[in-house]
This record gives sequence, C-alpha cells and structure tokens, in this order.
Amino acid sequence: MNDTVPPPGLALRGAAAGSSVIREALALTARPEVISFAGGLPASELIDTDGIRAAYDHVLSHSPHRALQYSLTEGDPELREAVAARLARGGLTTGPDRLLVTTGSQQALFLLTSVLLDPGDTVLVEDPTYLAALQCFLRAGVRAVPVPTDADGIDVDALPRLVAEHRPKAIYLVPTFQNPTGHTLPADRRAALARFAARHGLWIVEDDPYGELRFRGERLPWIAQLPDAADRTVLLGSFSKILAPGMRLGWLHAPAEVRRACAVAKQSLDLHTSAVDQAAAARYLAVRDLDAHLARCRTAYAERCAALLDALDAVLPAGSSCSRPDGGMFVWVRLPDGYDAVELLPRAVEHDVAFVPGAPFFAGEGDRATLRMSFAAHDPVVIAKGVERLAPLLG
Ligand code: PMP
Repeated sequence: MNDTVPPPGLALRGAAAGSSVIREALALTARPEVISFAGGLPASELIDTDGIRAAYDHVLSHSPHRALQYSLTEGDPELREAVAARLARGGLTTGPDRLLVTTGSQQALFLLTSVLLDPGDTVLVEDPTYLAALQCFLRAGVRAVPVPTDADGIDVDALPRLVAEHRPKAIYLVPTFQNPTGHTLPADRRAALARFAARHGLWIVEDDPYGELRFRGERLPWIAQLPDAADRTVLLGSFSKILAPGMRLGWLHAPAEVRRACAVAKQSLDLHTSAVDQAAAARYLAVRDLDAHLARCRTAYAERCAALLDALDAVLPAGSSCSRPDGGMFVWVRLPDGYDAVELLPRAVEHDVAFVPGAPFFAGEGDRATLRMSFAAHDPVVIAKGVERLAPLLG
C-alpha cells in the first residue's frame, strides 16, 4: 500500500509513507460541498483572530526590532517564561531554560529524532500512532516497533517482551486524547511506564498537543512530571490547537543535554522560529485570557464530540465500536470485520463526506476496518448531516 519506491534520482528516504489512494481521495475534499471529518484542524471560527491581530499590531508598532531581527535559537525569552509558567501551573517543576521553542511541535519531533536516534535504532510507538511521527521515523531510518493498545492506551505489560526483543532506545507516545484514537493513558499506566523506562534506560517522548482540550474528567499528570521519568522524558507542546496552527509555534521541554543538542540541530534547520510569531504569541499570553478562550473551545468541542457520537451510534453497523474521548479532537471508529475504510473513502467523497482511513496510522499491519473522524471543525448540525451522508455506505 505504501509508495516505497522513490522517483528516479531521489534518495530512498524521499519515498513518502501513506497510500496514494488515500492522498488522492483526500485531495478532493477541498471541494466546498464536502463535509470533511478528515483533517486535524481546530475550528477556524473559534480562532481568536481579533486578539491575535492586536498582538501582531502591538509588537510591530512597539518593538519592531525584537519582532523583525534575527533572534535566539532557544526562543523568545518572554514566550518561554509564559510557557514555563503554564507548565508550572500544571505541576511541572520547570523554568524557561528547560524550553526550546520550535516551529510547530512537528519540528520538535524531527529534532528529537535526530538527536536521540541513529539510523537503524528502534523506537516503540503506540499502535496506531500519529502518522507524521511514523513518517519522521521512517525518513530518519529509525525502526518504529508497535506496542499494542487498548481503550486506555498502550499496554504497559507488553513492554518487557518488546524491549527484550528489539532493544529500543526510546518510546514515543501521545498519552492524552491521542491522535488518532482519542484514548487517554490512565495515571497508573503512566506511573508504570515511567518506572519501566527508568529501569531500562529508555527515553520517553511525550507528545501533548491536545491536553488543554479536556472537556470531561480530571487532568492527569504529565509523564514528564513523574519522579521516575523526569530526567528521561521530553515533553512536546504546541500552540496549534490552542491558539492558531498557522503561527507554527511549538516547544519542547527536555533535560539539559537533550535541549542543548536540539538547539544545535535547530541551528542547522532554521536558526530560530519566526521572531514575529513568537513575539505576538508572548504578547497574546501577556494581555489576553487564554484560559477563557480555551473554555470556549472546550465547550464547543464537547458539543461537537457528543453530536458526532450520537450520529454515529445511529448509523454504525452492529459490531462496530468507537472511542469516547474526554477531550481533544478525534473519534476512532472500528467497523465490523470485512469492512475496508480505504475502499470506502473514495465512495464517501463521491457522497460529499470524508474521513481518514485508519490503516496508515499503524506501524504494524494496518487494520483496514478502522477510520479516524475529527469532530472539531464543524458545528453539530453539519456533523449530523455529514454522518447522514455516510449512512448509505455503511449498510
Ligand atoms: N503531534 C501530534 C500528535 C499531532 O496530532 C500534531 C498535529 N496534528 C503534531 C504533533 C504537530 O503539531 P504542530 O506542528 O502543528 O505543533
């Protein structure tokens, strides 16, 4: 299914992962009549455009040189202060010197892959996991070995066998409102994972772009704040889902030696993340109420998630299952055995509705009966209409 042969003249590592069937079908979802549940986009109408515009206006009129000159690789000090303060509020012992601002958390993943893993090394991943992380590992010549998961995230009991067999250097996971499943790893599994990683000398990469989008239940500790794992966990965060993805702002929080190595690697990539975007984000955090904004997002996402689950409950064939997330943006659907979401997608697009087939998210053999749907981008009425369009294809 993957396009593993590169065009002539290009390096083997240039061969993209991901089915071309899926890419072609998803390209068609740009048609305005298509109701797409495919993208991982936050709701456009919830982006605080006025607040963000005011922040850019302010930095360009009051501190244009800070905003427009070359800047520090580690990131704008004021922005790092603000992020550190938010992390400390969440219970992490930290400070601005532990943070590196990155161009989206995607860049943090790329940096970490290059400083923690050599070609031929192995990383453990949830099965399924974030597709662009798999692509990042593939491109770096790193082997991603899947860890089985259930509705509570990774099966920690499977780790001893996998570590003995594959000698991984790191484990990458999205423990809260996972992409693609929406699952959240409970506190006891976080603690067990932290202990296991400490015992076996594994790095943990804890990717958390969705944690602030909790609309139900109690917040769980980051793995990075558990004593067993604090010195071996890199926590990734992002402004994409809480402010605006177009600003391309993320960060990594890492032990000193890892942060330093990532900063050196970043110098060869882009010197630093856009100074004007960082200054605007810092201004935004200083004068706007991000928590009030997030409260609005959470309320809307709770309604949208409920609308999607209600609509799916009414149309999914007997024997299907879907995740019931407490936050984030995604619902993961498994259709009964024999269904093939990859084949279903082009037919769905003909009916003006789209989703992402689940198979490419697996590091191991893909389960073709699975699919991912995002509830973030549409209001409940549009969500109901989109699922209605799917219904005749699921018979
Ligand atoms: N990690 C995960 C799990 C994601 O879902 C995403 C975005 N879809 C990213 C990282 C990258 O986010 P960004 O680069 O926009 O910060």
